[in-house]
Amino acid sequence: MTPVFIGSEIYRNSTYGKNHPLAVPRVSSTTDLCRALGWLNGGNFAEAPMASVAEVTRFHDPAYVAALLRAEQTQNVSEEDRARFHIGAFSNPVYPEIFRRPMISAGGVLLAARLTLEGGIAYAPGGGTHHGRQDRASGFCYLNDPVLGMLAWLDQGVRRIAYVDIDAHHGDGVQDAFAGDPRVLTVSVHEEGRWPRTGLATDRAGGSARNFPVPAGFNDTEMRCVLEAILTLVRAHRADAVFLQCGADALEEDPLSRLALSNNAHWAVVAALMQVAPRLIVTGGGGYNPWTVARCWAGVWATLNGFALPDILPPAAEAVLRTLRFNRAAGRNPPAHWFTTLRDAPREGMVRPEVAVLARQALEDADDADRILGGAVPAPPDNPVFP
Ligand SMILES: [Zn+2]
Repeated sequence: MTPVFIGSEIYRNSTYGKNHPLAVPRVSSTTDLCRALGWLNGGNFAEAPMASVAEVTRFHDPAYVAALLRAEQTQNVSEEDRARFHIGAFSNPVYPEIFRRPMISAGGVLLAARLTLEGGIAYAPGGGTHHGRQDRASGFCYLNDPVLGMLAWLDQGVRRIAYVDIDAHHGDGVQDAFAGDPRVLTVSVHEEGRWPRTGLATDRAGGSARNFPVPAGFNDTEMRCVLEAILTLVRAHRADAVFLQCGADALEEDPLSRLALSNNAHWAVVAALMQVAPRLIVTGGGGYNPWTVARCWAGVWATLNGFALPDILPPAAEAVLRTLRFNRAAGRNPPAHWFTTLRDAPREGMVRPEVAVLARQALEDADDADRILGGAVPAPPDNPVFP
């Protein structure tokens, strides 16, 4: 089955405000770049529908969803809503699409879950809001579309899911939503000591989580080492579906982390996870340098499809990257390859002992994960979608 790209025009010109890290375009530039490269056509692009309130309240508190709608309608927030739902603060501001944009991101991921029910690959770069909480906004995230997408899979008969999160920040909202749930293994690779400061290596969330808090300067070679451990864990879990949160903020040029990956590392994770289960959803996530995000996420789409990457971008694709602006030091004099290429130079290096230890700990625990997670899965529903 051909992979499906799920997008929306809601992201174009939608920002969280000019001083917010999410002032930059991401999904629109990724989509434009893929179109300019001839990688999207009528058959492999789907418009993300807006989720219904009933769909998102499968996980979220109805009062919170109502508060998001109120904030969009009034473009304001009461003191009570600000305190209770954490909206209207700098991280989670009131912005013009504060209700529609998260609802469309959720709708896109729910569509991805439906489209992959009987197998296949869906890519929703607008999804990946992994910090969203049941009853409040957190870390630029209002709704938690990964949680909603995986609940949709489970509700429709998928039995065992591996969630892999390579955003620079710990996937705390997703881990907590499935803590102790033997059906979902959540794995997160993130910078140690960075907000939200959770996701220690010892944090197992009742057996359902594994965490790789990696040091600053984390390189492509180290990611390969961690990836081997992740693949072992995913196989031990016997996942029949994989959900990859592919945030781009662990890339070297991102302003919000000190990790040092090239986009080759992200694409290698995507390529490896395509092989381990019959169902795959890939979303975006963080990513705050407009060039690195667009180049990384367009390359994710190429990887999912097996498209060859041009060494030098054709003029129409370069033109997409030339329109981007970045209100930070790196935006004043961007290097030429941010306009003319997709692929970064690889950033190989030593595998530092602390990274090897993280991977080894996970490998030592792989059998344990199989015992804990494998032994406790409830009986399948009466009318399972899958045999
Ligand atoms: Zn992040």
